[in-house]
Amino acid sequence: MQTAEIRRRWLEFFGGRGHTVVPSASLVSDDPTLLFTVAGMVPFIPYLTGLVPAPYPRATSVQKCIRTLDIEEVGKTTRHGTFFQMNGNFSFGDYFKEGAIGFAWELLTSPESAGGLGFDEKDLWVTVYHDDDEAAQIWRKTAGIPESRIQRRGKADNFWHTGQPGPGGPCSEIYFDRGPAYGAEGGPEADENRFIEIWNLVFMQYLLSDVRGKTDFDIAGDLPRRNIDTGMGLERVAFLKQGVDNLYEIDQVRPVLDRASELSGRRYGADHGDDVRMRVVADHVRSALMLMADGVVPANEGRGYILRRLLRRTVRSMRLLGVEDPTLPELFPASRDAMHTAYPEVFTDFDRISRSAYGEEEAFLRTLAGGTSILDLAVGDTREQGSSQLRGDTAFLLHDTYGFPIDLTMEMASEAGLSVDRGAFDRLMAEQRARAKADAKSKKQAIADLSAYSPFRAAGETTFLGYDYLQAEATVL
Ligand code: ATP
Ligand code: MG
Ligand code: MG
Ligand code: MG
Repeated sequence: MQTAEIRRRWLEFFGGRGHTVVPSASLVSDDPTLLFTVAGMVPFIPYLTGLVPAPYPRATSVQKCIRTLDIEEVGKTTRHGTFFQMNGNFSFGDYFKEGAIGFAWELLTSPESAGGLGFDEKDLWVTVYHDDDEAAQIWRKTAGIPESRIQRRGKADNFWHTGQPGPGGPCSEIYFDRGPAYGAEGGPEADENRFIEIWNLVFMQYLLSDVRGKTDFDIAGDLPRRNIDTGMGLERVAFLKQGVDNLYEIDQVRPVLDRASELSGRRYGADHGDDVRMRVVADHVRSALMLMADGVVPANEGRGYILRRLLRRTVRSMRLLGVEDPTLPELFPASRDAMHTAYPEVFTDFDRISRSAYGEEEAFLRTLAGGTSILDLAVGDTREQGSSQLRGDTAFLLHDTYGFPIDLTMEMASEAGLSVDRGAFDRLMAEQRARAKADAKSKKQAIADLSAYSPFRAAGETTFLGYDYLQAEATVL
C-alpha cells in the first residue's frame, strides 16, 4: 500500500465520520515559541486549550512535522525521520475515550477491501496510563484486546501536558509486533524496535494546577470539556504495510536512498555503516526539500541553521560514501519525484528550492576543503605533541570560521584516531553565545517589541506558551 493511499484512506475514514478535513499547516509554525511544527496538534493548540472556540467539533489532518530531537536516531533506528507526516483526529469537547479507541481500532483492523488498513488484531498491543482503568476496559470491550496485550506505563511515557498549568491527561499508545525476528518477547515496555509505536491517543481530561516537571504535577480536577488529540505516524504505518524493514525504505523515501547507492557505487545492505549513511542522506534530503518548500533558507541561526545542518550532513555523508563531487543535483530531483504527488509545491517551486540548495552545497564543499586542511594540520600537531585529544580552540575555530558543526569535527577527528576536548569547546561556545545575546539585546531594544508577533501574548494568555516538551524538541540543536 503506497503512502499516498494510506493518507487517502485516513482522510476518507475520518472525513466520513464527521471530521472536518483540515489541510496541513506549514512546517514553520505560527507559534513564535516553536521553531517547527512538531506534531499534528500544533495548529489546533488554541482550540485544545480552549483559548479560541473550535470552529468544528471534530477535525482530521495529515500534518507535516519536523523533529530535530530525533536527528541522532535517523538511520540508526528503523522508525525516526527528521521530517515525517502525522495523521491526526481531534475532538474538541465532542467524543472521548470510547470514540477515539473505537475509531482507531476500526481503521487499523478493517480489511483493506473495506477501506481499512488491514492489520491483524493479534499483532497489535496497547499501553495505557497506569491508573487509567477506564481506557483498559474500553480496549477489552470495544477491541477485544486481551489483558496480556495491554501494558500499563507511568507518567514519563503515558501522560501528556503542556508543561504549564492547564489541560493534561493520560495517553494510550498502539504498537505493532514485528515478531521474534526483531527482538525479545515482553511487549513495548521491553522492546520498542520489535514493537513499533504507530499511534498515540491523548485523552485531555484533567485540569493541572501546578506543573513542576514532566512527571511532577498536581491534578486539580476534571476539565469542563474533554478533548481528544491523536497522532499516527504515516511513515511508520507505510513501512509496516509495505513489508520493508524501516521508514527509509518506503516509496516516498527509498528513491533517494537508491540514488545515493548508485552515485557511490556502494550496495545498500552490504555494510552497516554505509547503510546508515544512505538512510541519513535519504531522510535529510527529503526534510531539506520540504523545509525549503515552506520557505526556509539556509542561515547561521534559527530554522535556517537547522536546514543548513541537514544539507551539510547530507553532503558529508555522501563524502563518507566516497562521493566528492556535488551530489544534491542528483538527489533533490529524486526526492521531488517521490513527494510531489502529495505536495505539488515541491515541483512548482523546484527552481527556487534547487538553486538555493545547490548553492549551499557548493559553498559547503569550499568550506570543507579549507577546514579539512586546517584539521589535518591540527591532527598532525596533536600527534606530534603525543596527545590523543584535539584542542577545544581548534574545534571552535573550525566551527566559527569554517562552519564545521561539532559532530563533524568529532567524526573527522575520530577517523584520525583522536577525541576532541569537548569541555573547552563548550566553554568557548558559551562565551560566544553570551556575547551574541548581549549584542542582540541591545539591538532588540532599539528595533521592536517582539510581543507584537503573538496574538496570544497580546491577549495576555500564557497557558500553552511554555509548551516545554514540544519546544525542547524543536530547539534542541
Ligand atoms: P517514539 O517513542 O517512537 O520516539 P513518540 O512517542 O515520540 O515516538 P509521539 O509524540 O507520540 O511520538 O507522536 C505520535 C506518532 O508520530 C508516533 O506514535 C509515531 O507513529 C509518529 N512519530 C513520532 N516521531 C516520529 C519520527 N521522528 N519519525 C516518524 N514518525 C514519528
Ligand atoms: Mg520520540
Ligand atoms: Mg513513544
Ligand atoms: Mg508516543
